[in-house]
Amino acid sequence: MGVARVYLVGAGPGDPGLLTLRGRDVLGRADVVVYDALIAEPLLDLAPGGAERVYVGKRSGRHAMSQDGINQLLIDRARAGKTVVRLKGGDPFIFGRGGEEAEALADAGIGFRVVPGITAAAAAAACAGIPLTDRRYASSVAFVTGHEADAADRINWQALAGIDTVVIYMGVGNLDRVVSRLIQAGRDGSTPAAIVASASTPRQRVVAARLDELAGAAAAAGITPPAVAIVGKVAALAGKLAWFERLPLFGRTVIVTRPQGQAGQLSRRLAELGAAAIEAPAIVIGPPEDLTAVDAALRRLGEFDWIVFTSVNGVDAFVHRCWQLGLDGRSLGSARVAAVGPATAEGLRRNFIAPDLVPETFTTEALAEAIRAAGELSGRRLLLARADIAGAGLPEALRSAGADVEDVAFYRTGRPDSLPEEAAAALREGRVDWVTFASPSAVDNFVALLGPEAADLLAGAKLAAIGPVTAEAVRARGLTPTTVARTHTIDGLVEAIVQVEA
Ligand code: SAH
Repeated sequence: MGVARVYLVGAGPGDPGLLTLRGRDVLGRADVVVYDALIAEPLLDLAPGGAERVYVGKRSGRHAMSQDGINQLLIDRARAGKTVVRLKGGDPFIFGRGGEEAEALADAGIGFRVVPGITAAAAAAACAGIPLTDRRYASSVAFVTGHEADAADRINWQALAGIDTVVIYMGVGNLDRVVSRLIQAGRDGSTPAAIVASASTPRQRVVAARLDELAGAAAAAGITPPAVAIVGKVAALAGKLAWFERLPLFGRTVIVTRPQGQAGQLSRRLAELGAAAIEAPAIVIGPPEDLTAVDAALRRLGEFDWIVFTSVNGVDAFVHRCWQLGLDGRSLGSARVAAVGPATAEGLRRNFIAPDLVPETFTTEALAEAIRAAGELSGRRLLLARADIAGAGLPEALRSAGADVEDVAFYRTGRPDSLPEEAAAALREGRVDWVTFASPSAVDNFVALLGPEAADLLAGAKLAAIGPVTAEAVRARGLTPTTVARTHTIDGLVEAIVQVEA
């Protein structure tokens, strides 16, 4: 087959982290993404901003587009020379009609590739702690559809009753009938079983019961699709191996107020611990309107004794502007370099600058103290590469030690126009467990964005601050920080939340 035009990509079961590297790669160069229901939003963000995104999934029981329509869409876009990613839940070839789509492409003479994905059975097994073929209990496994029309007459129930582990897809609405068929065919009603809903996501639910009680238990627990039922002795392991739902932040909803482009690290850490992270940037970062002071400082970099950075943004803005002016690392001359904390230090190292000083506590007071301790400041020239809204404490402390301080705004911080609807809705509906703040301006902007109802909207949520200054900003708004990170880093912030939840 010729050049690939269409990629049938398995998106995995819901956790965006379970996409394959190949899937991420092809999404990153898609011109068109054609996707179903149940595809996690962050996966769509992996496609280039300008890519066409076409939703063809089911809504309220009706197909947004017929299968023929979908096939034709893939063919048309491919013929127009586009790179098309057909993103399907789980694996494209397991109950996903990926076969029909591939066949239509083959018939039309269009090159395609299939990128496998983690199917729901594998994800449910992993995340519920049910090893599908644990050799002590099972040496065969079957995936079957519980969908009414298919299950009724296409499945050989007799044969199925002899398979050790049976995983039933699409069976929530039809569970009691599927179960009775299995039992009629000879499966023991006392066989261990479990239903796993929304596997791998913060909304995961697992209900375990004997086979003959499974449908009732699932209904009583209010289980809704997507879910798979797992039948067989291995299902009895679910209780002991339920690692996923024991993650420290499992099921918690946490709002991340960090600026876009910088929220990822915190969101990922929270997701790893089982939380649903909602990014709601309260800060937008841009270059200063007037670069005169920045350029003047950069052109005489070598004259400074110290260059001081208090954020990764400061480092990025500094390096970016240096490049634009045709400067590189050598322009630093013999200036010493200070960073407020490990993230800022890492930002410098990424740019081939090893900081000479990082204080032991990551606050601006500690930074001033450490610089003072590093040698006589009288008559020394210091450049502070900071934000437009940076506080006066640091320059004042350094000036009072006799330093000649040039405090330059290397970047501007602003407030976005609004919060994303997902965050606003979660707050309105009282679904938010935590709001995290990594700077005082994040607090001020977030509260301002919430408007006059801020106190009400935040009443049910716990508030986490990265350090004392940020905590003070929370208090200044009449709110109470639930926890303040002891180490003023993103990891420290996460640790503080975990301690409260433990
Ligand atoms: N191709 C997909 C299956 C599509 S059929 C795959 O390989 O997983 C849709 C069915 O998949 C749902 O009805 C449900 O039974 C199952 N499913 C999908 N995502 C799931 C999830 N996160 N948890 C449990 N079951 C899921």
